[in-house]
This record gives sequence, structure tokens and C-alpha cells, in this order.
Amino acid sequence: MKVLVINCGSSSLKFQFIDMDHETVLAKGLVERIGAGGHVVYQSGAGSADYEREIPNHTTAFSEVKKCLTTGGTKIAEPEDISAIGHRIVQGGDLYVESCLVTDQVEADIEKLAPLAPLHNPAHLQGIRAAKAAFGEDVPQVVVFDNAFHSTMPKKAYMYPLPYEYYEKYRVRKYGFHGTSHRYVSTLLGELHPEYKKVVICHLGNGSSLSAVLDGKVVDTSMGLTPLDGFIMGTRCGSIDPAVVPFLMKNENLTPDEMDAIMNKKSGFLGVSGISSDWRDIQSAASEGNERAQLVADLLFYQVAKIIASYMVALQGLDALVFTAGIGENASAVREGICKQLSYLGIQLDTEKNDATHGVQEMISADDSSVPVYVIPTNEELMIARDTRAVVTAAQA
Ligand code: ADP
Repeated sequence: MKVLVINCGSSSLKFQFIDMDHETVLAKGLVERIGAGGHVVYQSGAGSADYEREIPNHTTAFSEVKKCLTTGGTKIAEPEDISAIGHRIVQGGDLYVESCLVTDQVEADIEKLAPLAPLHNPAHLQGIRAAKAAFGEDVPQVVVFDNAFHSTMPKKAYMYPLPYEYYEKYRVRKYGFHGTSHRYVSTLLGELHPEYKKVVICHLGNGSSLSAVLDGKVVDTSMGLTPLDGFIMGTRCGSIDPAVVPFLMKNENLTPDEMDAIMNKKSGFLGVSGISSDWRDIQSAASEGNERAQLVADLLFYQVAKIIASYMVALQGLDALVFTAGIGENASAVREGICKQLSYLGIQLDTEKNDATHGVQEMISADDSSVPVYVIPTNEELMIARDTRAVVTAAQA
């Protein structure tokens, strides 16, 4: 079975086309600036493409993907080879704990959950409908929810101590995100080391989150109602005193949307350093003596280490610590900075192994570390493709 994996945003569409018989990526690409110009980047074993074209809407974007995959010099498949489409959906609320086939009800629920993910869910829905228009109703579509893996959290972990009526009225609670990544890493580690029962996974990328996983099930995670919660990220502030929000709104005369944009898009690495949201820029500025870039690094190491320590309490122990995603897989200085803060708990890296590990699976802890530390590259697209195959196969049985 060959599966098209889609991550659809309001003006962009990322895709991978995966052969599930061998779990190999046949093609991947990006359509961006949808509705505001149009740019297509495509790469496959057959050829690559990079061109500007008017892409007025998502349906045209999907048609362009189909054209790249099935025609001309970039052709990698016949149209009928595209057996199923798997979509990443950010917010499934507490309605969906597993991946499932798209039905009218599922579409209605994704729409109903839009107030909880206003930037993401409407775009995902557009993607589902556009995929149907471009590929036809006969190609089964599956939705894989970003928060589903966190649905096992106990109530004491996901409830906010606000008046209970807001939970009842709006389902305001912690949901957690990056679940597909945490599940991929947790599953892989479970296959390699079934003896590890208590695991903390650090997904450190542009957006970042930690999860505490007990016997393969999440018991706590750092993101909340939205992906804003947790710790310092590329452009997000993570957890702050909630009173800062009305304080700044009053004093800077900000609307809720403006305040939201400040916390989501202008904070984090970018806001503190004034330089960049990208870790590599922060690291090079810090090494040149930039104090605010160094402050970003200090905040990141301190905040992540504190959450890891708190999860050791949530799990009542720790059998393995794992780093994943762009920063976690590549930035050895970040892993070192975090683990140094945990040396009191006996966690020690093998410096040589850590320094040499970039984007590959490796154990990086010292022999006498109290807890083994791993780098495991994540693969959210493959996880979505696996779910898509499983759901479609079960539905056809
Ligand atoms: P996203 O959340 O957008 O998926 P990624 O997981 O791709 O983000 O992570 C992006 C982050 O990873 C950026 O801050 C980038 O600087 C960092 N990163 C990527 N490659 C490297 C590298 N080789 N060394 C250090 N940091 C890296």
C-alpha cells in the first residue's frame, strides 16, 4: 500500500508519499503561499521540481501534488497507486483517542473543535475537503490526532484549577500535542528495550514538548490546551504567570489576538534574544558572547531540566531519557546543557558520544549514568502512514 501523508496549514501543505510495504519515502514536498501566490517544492526518486505557480486554494494545491506524483518527469506512481491519504490533525479534543477514517461526523467534529485550535483545525478541514476534491471520494482518508497519545493522562494531570464550569462548558483542560512524535519514539524504544517502563521524551524543535510515559502510556505532558504551554520554544513563551497576560494587555493596550500573537510568534528564543527563533543562530550568537542569546540557552536548559525532574516524581522513577526532533536530535550542546543540570540525580552523558551524535539513533549516556540517555530521531509522517494503513486495512477487512 502507498500512502500520501498530509500536514495541511492555512497557507501551506507539506506531504510525503510513502511505500508502506518497505516503509520508504517515494516522494516529498511542500506547496506554500496558497492563496497568496504559490510555490511548489517536490522531490522524488524520479526527479525534483521547484516552481512558482498561482495556487488560489487548497484544492489546486492538492491537484498540483497529484500532478507531480503521477505525471511528467517527476512521476513516481500511477494515480490509482495512491491508496490512502493520512492527515495530521492538531486537535481532537477528548472526542478522539485513536486515528480513524474520515466520515461526515469526523469532519463535523473537527469543525466543532476549531475554537480549541483556531489556527490549525479549520486548515486541516480544508485539507480533507480539498483532498477529496482532487483525489476523489474513493480514496480513503484517515485522520491522526496530535493530542490522541496524551489521552491517557489522569485527571489530576490534565485539569486546570479554574472554576469547573469552564471545563464543562468549553472543555478547557490540558490536551498535549506532538503526540504522534512521542508515540513513535515511545513505541520504538519499547521495541528495543521492553524493560524500560518509566520514560521521559524530550521533543525539542521549533515547537517543543516533554512527555512522561509509564508502560507506554502518557501520564503527563508539557503542552496544554494549546501548544503554547510548557517551556521556552522558538517563538513561544511556554508557561508564564497567567497574570502577566492581563497586565500586558492593560498596559500595552492589546487585544486578545494581539496578546496571543505576542506569546505565540514573538516570544521564546526570538523574543528573548531579539536575534532569531532558530537554535543554530542562538548558539552561534551565544558563542560570540551575546548575553541575551546565552540567556535563551540558560532558560532552555534550566526549564527542561526542571520538567524532567518533576516527571521523575510523576513516574516515581526513570528508566530512560530520550531526546528527539530538530534540536533534540542534532544539538549536542542542548543535551549537554540539560543533562548537566541533572547531574545531581546521577544523570551523566558520555561527552564524546554526545558530541558525535547528530540525527541518528544512539545511546549517549556514560556507563555510570543513573539513567540511560538516548537520541531517537522522530518520524511523525511514518507514524501517520502506519496508522493510515492500519485503519484502512481494518475497514476493508
Ligand atoms: P519543527 O517544530 O518546525 O518541526 P524541527 O523539529 O525541525 O522543528 O526543529 C527545528 C529546530 O532544530 C531549529 O531551532 C533548528 O535550529 C534546530 N536544528 C536543526 N538542525 C540542527 C543542527 N544540526 N544543530 C543544531 N540545531 C539544529
